[in-house]
Amino acid sequence: MGPAGRTLLAWDFDWSLIEENSDTWVIGQLGADEIYRKGREAGMPWTQLMDHTLREAAALLGRTREDVEAALQATPLHPELADLLRAAAAVEGGEAVDIVVLSDANTVYIDTILAHHGLRQLVAEVHTNPAEWRGGVLRVGPYHSKPHSCSRRCPANLCKGKVLLELLERRRAAGRQYSRVLYVGDGRGDFCPAVLLLHGGGTAAGGGDAAAADGGGGGSQSPCGGSGNRVYARQEYPDGLPCSLSVMLRNEAHGDGGSPASASVAAVAGRQAGAEAEARVVPWRRPQELAQLLRRELHLAA
Ligand SMILES: [Mg+2]
Ligand SMILES: [Zn+2]
Repeated sequence: MGPAGRTLLAWDFDWSLIEENSDTWVIGQLGADEIYRKGREAGMPWTQLMDHTLREAAALLGRTREDVEAALQATPLHPELADLLRAAAAVEGGEAVDIVVLSDANTVYIDTILAHHGLRQLVAEVHTNPAEWRGGVLRVGPYHSKPHSCSRRCPANLCKGKVLLELLERRRAAGRQYSRVLYVGDGRGDFCPAVLLLHGGGTAAGGGDAAAADGGGGGSQSPCGGSGNRVYARQEYPDGLPCSLSVMLRNEAHGDGGSPASASVAAVAGRQAGAEAEARVVPWRRPQELAQLLRRELHLAA
């Protein structure tokens, strides 16, 4: 059975769809770790650090576009997740699945890796930092050119919650309404969209006036907070280290305070809401396991 209606399957990229961090993977393959380390110690923001490292790898180490592309093509992506994407994209009719990627990597990395595995045309939208080749050097810039004013610890260059909310609003305005959103993630940047999907978008990232614009039937219901939403939160990396998203969601569900005197009605209601939200978080550790969980949720043959 399962809920009828279109599903949005939204992916983080690094350590969610691929079994690596594409940024640090490429740096390692280029032998540019020392350049990266120095920039990091100097306190550069992430996208600026990536842009700097790629520029210096070209200027000081002579690394070429071909070197970067070879590194991208060697990035590990589990074949069972590739098969899952193909199966999900092949579903037609009322229970069709639309696939999008929200990532703090960059457009060239994601397009190149997906295309290498024959998956690029299955992904409806990729939202990530813009990148382009200029004279054999890959230049990377921030996704948001203006401050996003999100308070959920999103990096300055990208608030995935804001991106997801705008994506859902845009698609709804174009007549495409989703019965649920399945979100796959592992990192700090995935906390913001995860909270929106689990608790609704009422306090959503400061998007300005667009949200209030439609007078249509749905009332003030945010496009984000459906009970069918699931957050597939990775629990640990292959080296056993815990993933930030799962830790942040656990802290949020249990309330950081936890004072023994908090037996008020509000505190009890808050704990109940936390428990309900936590029940919609699906833990996973390995890509094979994630592929199985998503196949079950989407009613795809194993
Ligand atoms: Mg990630
Ligand atoms: Zn945010």
